[in-house]
Amino acid sequence: MSQGALDGRGAEIGVIGGSGFYAFLDDVTEVTVNTPYGEPSDALFVGEIAGRRVAFLPRHGRTHRLPPHRINYRANLWALRSLGVRQVLGPCAVGGLTAEYGPGTLLVPDQLVDRTKGRQQSFYDGETRPDGQQSNVVHVSFADPYCPSGREVVLAAARDHGWDAVDGGTMCVIEGPRFSTRAESRWHAAQGWSVVGMTGHPEAILARELELCYTSVNLVTDLDAGAEVGEGVSHAEVLEVFAENIGRLRDVLFDVVGRLPKDRDCLCPTALLGQDPGIALP
Ligand SMILES: [Zn+2]
Repeated sequence: MSQGALDGRGAEIGVIGGSGFYAFLDDVTEVTVNTPYGEPSDALFVGEIAGRRVAFLPRHGRTHRLPPHRINYRANLWALRSLGVRQVLGPCAVGGLTAEYGPGTLLVPDQLVDRTKGRQQSFYDGETRPDGQQSNVVHVSFADPYCPSGREVVLAAARDHGWDAVDGGTMCVIEGPRFSTRAESRWHAAQGWSVVGMTGHPEAILARELELCYTSVNLVTDLDAGAEVGEGVSHAEVLEVFAENIGRLRDVLFDVVGRLPKDRDCLCPTALLGQDPGIALP
């Protein structure tokens, strides 16, 4: 779909995050997108920041009705690409696996470990879609799951906002919606993993399969069970930390939007090179 055909609804950058990110933009167009994989979490909210067209998608739906394991990740990524999006920012709240990464820490991971179960994690599963198209089998490199250019831009923007973000680390993605037991949490930490979340997978691999750049941005809101000291933080304190930092995170991400390269020079756009997915990407 070309930008022209989208009649002003197109976007080049996608942000998968909550309504707190776009609610105050002056001019936001609500765009409903249907995909061969079903409905995305919500309508997409398209606006402009620093001269760049941005599509916001509330990952859990605007009323937060979808738990992490029920999110239609395939529809979300497909919908973004349908609007013209090629670079995606994926902010998410995580738990710190070590006291070093306490509440308020911003971490830009460079690795992930998938501990989810039974989520649809490929567009190329050989199934016939409702529109009759059938994919081939495709194997995509995922050694480095995140876009190196996007990571650099986020780290630099955070630094300029006085937020010394952690450069690299491993996000462990659990199925949820329950939190980890203390034993699981200690085990995750013992592996050297940094933070734990519930939505980072399969978002990143699905973006890669569509040749999108994807950058994960982790805001630590609490310490995971095994990393707590004493009684740990209270729920009220967690909410306070989140509220304090969501504005900061939004400011950083808006700055990132303006700084993302207009012409991508990373390898993300060539993820399918030499392979025929059998279905046309939007
Ligand atoms: Zn990239």
